[in-house]
Amino acid sequence: MLDQGLKINEIFYSIQGESLLVGKPTVFVRLATCNLRCTYCDTRYAFWHGTVMALDAILSQIRNHKTRYVCLTGGEPLGQQGIYPLMDRLLKEGYTVSLETNGSFSIEKVPAAVIKVVDLKCPDSGEADTMVWDNCALVQPHDQFKFVIASKEDFEWSQNACERYGLIEKCAVLYSPVAGKVKPADLARWILDAQAPVTMQVQMHKEIWGPHQRGV
Ligand code: SF4
Repeated sequence: MLDQGLKINEIFYSIQGESLLVGKPTVFVRLATCNLRCTYCDTRYAFWHGTVMALDAILSQIRNHKTRYVCLTGGEPLGQQGIYPLMDRLLKEGYTVSLETNGSFSIEKVPAAVIKVVDLKCPDSGEADTMVWDNCALVQPHDQFKFVIASKEDFEWSQNACERYGLIEKCAVLYSPVAGKVKPADLARWILDAQAPVTMQVQMHKEIWGPHQRGV
């Protein structure tokens, strides 16, 4: 297949701050551009800025690091067709690959071995209408659904979505608070009071390096 390259915003090596791979030294490949505009987005700089890189150049930067974990993030990775050959090459080279996707693209063609972390955008994001709900039937046990919660209403909406689509039985479900909108202690209390079998997360990289640091 012709290498069309990928528009990359940044490639960096850091500690995974989210998902069930939290804490792992990881190479992050941040794809440029995103089709959504979430109210709380903390990576707006990825909307416009990026450099087109050939697959070999991306792989060469990844190989500069010893870790075997690679996270494909954005922006929105599934917005560029070149992501598929990149996933194939990484799997072939034996990497553990995770893909963070915003839930507005089908995950149908993503290789089964890739760990998919699929956002399900709550109403306060302003993007709940864009979700591809068919993705709920396409996940495997190693995948994860992520709800980023900005209010008690978002929490209730997430609980309803879990029940309606049977998400808890399919794979791990992550609840994370929007910084400055929901206190972690409040989200923890709602989860416990509801006896929700989800995994609560705060963005660990922001605890380590501060909320505005890029490339971490
Ligand atoms: S999907 Fe992600 S990158 Fe895109 S606007 Fe929403 S939070 Fe930002």
